[in-house]
Amino acid sequence: MNNDTPRDDYKHVIDRIYKEVLPFLGRGKVADYIPALARVNPNQFGIAVLPLEGQVVLKGDARTCFSVQSISKVFTFAMVMRHLGEEIWKSVGREPSGNPFNSLVQLEHEKGVPRNPFINAGAIVVTDRLIDLYSRPKEEILQFVRELCGNDDIYYDSKVARSELDHADRNRALAYFMKSFGNIHNDVDTIIDVYCHQCALSMSCEDLAHAFLFMANHGVNPADGKRILSKSQAKRLGALMLTCGFYDESGDFAFRVGLPGKSGVGGGIVAYLPERLTIAVWSPELDCHGNSLMGIETLERFTTDISRSIF
Ligand code: GLN
Repeated sequence: MNNDTPRDDYKHVIDRIYKEVLPFLGRGKVADYIPALARVNPNQFGIAVLPLEGQVVLKGDARTCFSVQSISKVFTFAMVMRHLGEEIWKSVGREPSGNPFNSLVQLEHEKGVPRNPFINAGAIVVTDRLIDLYSRPKEEILQFVRELCGNDDIYYDSKVARSELDHADRNRALAYFMKSFGNIHNDVDTIIDVYCHQCALSMSCEDLAHAFLFMANHGVNPADGKRILSKSQAKRLGALMLTCGFYDESGDFAFRVGLPGKSGVGGGIVAYLPERLTIAVWSPELDCHGNSLMGIETLERFTTDISRSIF
């Protein structure tokens, strides 16, 4: 396929891949450590492709809202990056962790400074800084995401937030541990409340494809021309998505798909092809690293079919 793949061709590709990947249903496992996620019907599969110039292509359950979970870590990091700039690297690293997303072990060796902003420890530090910077963080996260998507109907799923709050002992442990090293400023319960809400953002594949279009456009939201991040910040955020967006499966995702992206245990994945498009896939069944099994399968076929990735 050439540079200017018309919309009909994406539709064609997505229709075919959808059929090819559907038989993978049942091979993964829905996240069960948050009860509200364990209750999600696994039999759902949606894809949205949004070219920078052109119309969105939707397939399957692309308009059904689901819990974005760790995909929200990109939103909060972008919000903090805008204000703190280089300062943020004193509190969080920028190397892949090679460990599961909720691991505690590395933190002790590295004196409470998490490897990167996309593992839970890193995202909790970022949320802590967000609370320093914003007076009403939950409202301001919602407003930021709504503006990116041009959709004022985006909300937190309060049942998912409650369920995670009731089962957040590991995340609390991470926060207290980092606090003992002086890398957490605010009250742990306040941080975990904001963190569980950001993870409970309820969005569709279509919303996510819109929300990440600024990343495919060097930091500017093409919908309204607003600059969200500087060119350099957008480049850096993309590099973090590529190297750390899939935890201890980040190398394999780059190997198979070849795009910067971010996953969440709700089964969503969003990825982008710079200067061309965003693609969001949702299927709740996860592989053993906590990433959507059918989502990765879909994205691998997509970049292979259109003969385009960042490599
Ligand atoms: N809310 C989840 C947690 O903290 C997010 C994890 C994820 O999506 N990988 O465990």
